[in-house]
Amino acid sequence: MKGTVFHGPHDVRVERVDDPALQTPTDALVRITRAGICGSDLHFYHGAFPIEPGFVLGHEGVGVIEEVGAGVEHLKKGQRVVVSGLVACGRCFFCRRGQPSQCAESGSAVFGYGSSSAGKLGWLGGEQSEAVRVPMADYTCYPLPDAIDDDSAVFLADILPTAFFGATNGNIRPGDTVAIFGCGPVGLCAVMTAKLFGPAEIIAVDSIPYRLELASKLGAIGVDTETANQTILDRTEGRGADVTIEAVGNESALTAAIMSVRGGGTVSAIGAFAAPSFNFPIGYAFMRDLTLKAGLANINAHIPQLSRLIEKGTLNPRPLISHIMPLSEAAKGYEIFNARKDNVMKVLLKP
Ligand SMILES: [Zn+2]
Ligand SMILES: [Zn+2]
Repeated sequence: MKGTVFHGPHDVRVERVDDPALQTPTDALVRITRAGICGSDLHFYHGAFPIEPGFVLGHEGVGVIEEVGAGVEHLKKGQRVVVSGLVACGRCFFCRRGQPSQCAESGSAVFGYGSSSAGKLGWLGGEQSEAVRVPMADYTCYPLPDAIDDDSAVFLADILPTAFFGATNGNIRPGDTVAIFGCGPVGLCAVMTAKLFGPAEIIAVDSIPYRLELASKLGAIGVDTETANQTILDRTEGRGADVTIEAVGNESALTAAIMSVRGGGTVSAIGAFAAPSFNFPIGYAFMRDLTLKAGLANINAHIPQLSRLIEKGTLNPRPLISHIMPLSEAAKGYEIFNARKDNVMKVLLKP
């Protein structure tokens, strides 16, 4: 089959790789019909994660079940599914508590994540490819209703649950002011999911005008990074936002999120950090009585409710799709996404 192979920084190529095959009874094989390129894939692209070349990228996929192992109970050949970016068993202590990101059986394994974060299951082939082997398939695949098309369903594999997780962690209450740092695809999904909790105002922060424009179309107040802190103070009688959500994954965005929240407020970080640590303003956080929540989203646990919200029209991720390209042009997709050319937002690949 063909897959998008990482060769090194700024070098991904679509080439022939081994066909995936079932390895354990709880595996399924999924023929991919749509895949996403994620902001976190750009960390590989930049060489920011210590990884080895040669693996297939991608952790956002939708497809059709082609084969299931003897131990798969709830899936059958021909079923349309979204594959959660995160592999989880659905049965361990953590999965039963709704925390599949801490799954004891999978070791928080993510598709297409090379070596360093490969988890207990070792390297898992990525989904920017024609097919993928899905371990622990019963809880990692989610059958899709007909009303959700492939393009929208890709958002369920990672970024919509990630954004929802961020909004949930923010403990947004009706009437709150929420500030979201970063208006890439995850940040804009955070705008959409924050709205589910009834805030009075959502302030979306970025430095790129077309991204702010899209944030405004989704109902947020778009503000440039340079003036964000002042605007947030001005709109909250000098207090700061009740909740800030960091959706970039770097130190400056997280610091800005911490410095823009009110005393007693909550900072929710969902951007995938390439750096293992950063200078945390603990003295400031202590004096301001802040809560910081950060984490890999519990994707598998959130997919059913978000699927229902897309199906009923409450959530609509389609406006975020800027490019749908054939899989063979994945390298070009990465280049466009990385360079923020062509008003790029979400790039989808079609095998
Ligand atoms: Zn992702
Ligand atoms: Zn588990």
